[in-house]
Amino acid sequence: MYSGRDDDYYDRRDEAELRKQFRRRLRLKRFLAALILVLGAALVCFLLFLLGKGIVSFFKSGSSGSEYVEEVPGVQLEVVDNVFTPEDLLRLFGKADTADSTGTVDNNGADSTGTGDAVDNTGQTGNTDTEVTTDTERHLGLIAIDAGHGGMDSGTYNGEILEKNINLQIALKLRDELKNRGYSVYMTRDDDTYVGLQKRAELVNSQDNVLAFVSIHQNAVDSDKSSIYGIEGWTYKREGCGELAELVVNHVCDITGAKNRGYAFKTNLVVTSKTTMPAVLLECGFLSNDDECAKLASEDYQKLIARGIADAIDEFTKTHY
Ligand SMILES: [Zn+2]
Repeated sequence: MYSGRDDDYYDRRDEAELRKQFRRRLRLKRFLAALILVLGAALVCFLLFLLGKGIVSFFKSGSSGSEYVEEVPGVQLEVVDNVFTPEDLLRLFGKADTADSTGTVDNNGADSTGTGDAVDNTGQTGNTDTEVTTDTERHLGLIAIDAGHGGMDSGTYNGEILEKNINLQIALKLRDELKNRGYSVYMTRDDDTYVGLQKRAELVNSQDNVLAFVSIHQNAVDSDKSSIYGIEGWTYKREGCGELAELVVNHVCDITGAKNRGYAFKTNLVVTSKTTMPAVLLECGFLSNDDECAKLASEDYQKLIARGIADAIDEFTKTHY
């Protein structure tokens, strides 16, 4: 027979067990709530991080000049001959274009510097409103001229003097000089417009029978500004390119008396590597050098450069076509 004391004992035991279970469940619920809270907070942080990155890249893509070379991932400079040394590799990963150059190397007794000019900017789209000029009369053949930078992209500078303007002034003088000599001329830009690098190459490639392509730029260095000056050409290993580059650099140096810094083959310059005809990118001088900058800004010196390039094109087209 069960006594009331026994019943009471079992009841109390069940009650204690229930309390224990209740406490366990409560602990579990609290733990789950804390876990959800932590995971939720982590998710919110992650989303904020992504949003932040998106905003940063949005502003980056909208910026000009100095940014657009740096934002290109995996830009590689391949040195194809001995004119340029591995130090050139370091240069291209530094500041490019508004500083336009980041170092100097001594090469065969000649200073060698470079800029980020014309490095691939695949993220940029071309300006579809590009003004182009084509002379329909073709006597000696068609020459393409590319005035580097333009619009929001100023290139390098020295005080108020902007590379994009000097490039255009020389390019327009070259256009007139070539037309006077009987060539047809195609220009990737003939005013202060921004044109993407890929677009420039596409525009030039879309023309029939371009005999030669010349891209005009100005150089700069960050240090040793007073001792570094002169003219250099950059080109691509394709038929006729080396010869054209050599002729252009030599003729322009002959006529201007500027220091001849030679020419080099580079694989990552869009305007020379993506075009299909003999092409050269001419660095007409260093804006970072005050003396050379003053010359480059003068009408007479610009005319000499244009004549030198035209002389080179004359010699090149006579021997190659
Ligand atoms: Zn440039």
